[in-house]
Amino acid sequence: MQRVLVTGGAGFLGSHLCDRLLAEGYRVIAMDNLITGNTDNVAHNARDRHFEFVKYDVTQYLYIEGQVDFIFHFASPASPIDYLQLPIQTLKVGSIGTHKALGLAFARGAKFLLASTSEVYGDPMLHPQDECYWGNVNPIGPRGVYDEAKRFAEALTMAYHRYHSVDTRIVRIFNTYGPRMRLFDGRVVPTFIRQAIEGEPLTVYGDGSQTRSFCYVSDLIEGIFRLALCDYHEPVNIGNPNEMTVLEFAQIIRRITGSKSEIIFEPLPEDDPKQRQPDISLARRLLDWEPKVDIEDGIRQTIDYFRGRVSGARGRVGGKIPPTT
Ligand code: UDP
Repeated sequence: MQRVLVTGGAGFLGSHLCDRLLAEGYRVIAMDNLITGNTDNVAHNARDRHFEFVKYDVTQYLYIEGQVDFIFHFASPASPIDYLQLPIQTLKVGSIGTHKALGLAFARGAKFLLASTSEVYGDPMLHPQDECYWGNVNPIGPRGVYDEAKRFAEALTMAYHRYHSVDTRIVRIFNTYGPRMRLFDGRVVPTFIRQAIEGEPLTVYGDGSQTRSFCYVSDLIEGIFRLALCDYHEPVNIGNPNEMTVLEFAQIIRRITGSKSEIIFEPLPEDDPKQRQPDISLARRLLDWEPKVDIEDGIRQTIDYFRGRVSGARGRVGGKIPPTT
């Protein structure tokens, strides 16, 4: 039986990946320092003898007892407010954390998959974005801590592949949503759903004309799983090309929730990308993959997940996460 390590395994994407790997018959070690991850996301696997959880910071020296066949490096704060609050940790996990994870892969002869991001394209001048585009990133802007960390992580992954022959893969993940997102992670999907359920105004940043393309989490995990099994080493976009403006998205959330919430406009955060849509031609060709879940179904499933949580979270201060070292 193959044994895999998922860093960030208690996070939104990492935990869904753990579920998929367990279902496919792998033994899984989920590693997470729980800064933005939560053991609730993996609690349902606690009795599975093929599952282990390790609370650990991947930027520290990394040692895993026993066999390791594959490392999925998913650890990182990933929502804009998280990496604005945790800029140093974000830079460290993308750089030092990736170095440790690649070092472990090299030492054990394990395969390696890096969770990269559409943020490597920055505020893109090319639309839609294909993998050949080098991006338009402001290295010293507030988002630079995430964008540059992931760009460095890609460069390091390619270096380990070229110079140490580590069997690596890189997925560039576009906006993804679904159950296990944090209610207060500040991203547009949980924020609008929470606001709509609570009857609060939906806070559209800027004039809402900026675009995003939202992928349901099960589609994303399918694409990543196929990439893991495939012998291709350069970055591959995985996302849903269904592009819409943020204002259109607010209207969709109002309609599906049946909410009467008004829409209000707030200042656009610095360097907020004006447009984003994945070109998934490569994933279609290479992996025979494309997203299947339409936005209505995906949003309904996400709303079901959030409904129970909204009332419990009432009174909490939005967006705050505990201070860390
Ligand atoms: N956004 C918004 N209202 C919110 C949260 C986000 O209008 O309450 C916008 C944000 O400015 C961006 C888009 O929604 O243009 C997506 O933001 P998110 O934080 O989800 O992810 P990003 O794609 O920017 O990383």
